[in-house]
Amino acid sequence: MILFKKAEALSRYLLQQKQNGRNIGFVPTMGALHEGHFSLIVSSKEEQAITVCSIFINPTQFNNPDDFKHYPVTVEEDIGKLLTAGCDVLFLPSADEVYPEGYTAKKYKLGVLETLLEGRYRPGHFQGVCQVVDRLLQIVQPAVLYLGQKDYQQCKVIQTLINSRQASRDIKLKIGPTCREKDGLAMSSRNLRLTGAQRQKAPLLYKALHAAKEKLPTHPVDEIKAAAERFLTAEGFAVDYFEIADADTLLSSTRKSDRLIALVAAHLDGIRLIDNLLLN
Ligand code: AMP
Repeated sequence: MILFKKAEALSRYLLQQKQNGRNIGFVPTMGALHEGHFSLIVSSKEEQAITVCSIFINPTQFNNPDDFKHYPVTVEEDIGKLLTAGCDVLFLPSADEVYPEGYTAKKYKLGVLETLLEGRYRPGHFQGVCQVVDRLLQIVQPAVLYLGQKDYQQCKVIQTLINSRQASRDIKLKIGPTCREKDGLAMSSRNLRLTGAQRQKAPLLYKALHAAKEKLPTHPVDEIKAAAERFLTAEGFAVDYFEIADADTLLSSTRKSDRLIALVAAHLDGIRLIDNLLLN
């Protein structure tokens, strides 16, 4: 595995690879790597000649400074795991490398995607996501970008970004399924912050999603949502939202003929967890 800290050196290297006919698969991450990240790396390795993983905790996507301060950092372990996984290239930039002097943030047009669900509860978050992904795509210029369904709305936002960038229209987005622990909890770097008791509670998020899926054929959507929120609140979660939405537009929907997805965001003593499940 080759480790790059400088954007220019990485771009030069990858350009050479592309000129030699090698396609690049790219897996951007914020580190504290787990099986969810590695499932994307495995897909990229199966399908592309060169797999690039980046680790960068992007400050501009954190609307909550406390969340940024406590975001887990495990770079040494991450490098060891990436070596074992056979990742070809690791990009480990400093903030100055991603946002060099003179960088000015653009305003990305994301429409309603920016104001609902995560956008509503994390103002500015998706602008920050677009800033970093825009820069990383400029630097890496992959053929295929690998993202996880765990961050479903983020996938939609990044697809919008790709469609809007002339230079990135050819980049293909591939979305891998959410990797879960045995008890159903969606793997997440933030799970490292959970205490033993919180870790025991956390799988109830998936349980609530699953219950919604089971009830869909027989119960009205509004009732399903209300019951899920009541259940999680009674179990000690502070629920931001439990929404059932059209899986394409992410607009709230009660029409069972739509392709529906349930999405949830809830806090356990200040640690915010998200998850989602396609319902039909
Ligand atoms: P993060 O490091 O949390 O920014 O995530 C980096 C990439 O890994 C994103 O595309 C995430 O959607 C994806 N990812 C995170 N958790 C999971 C998971 N449990 N299963 C599959 N992909 C995931």
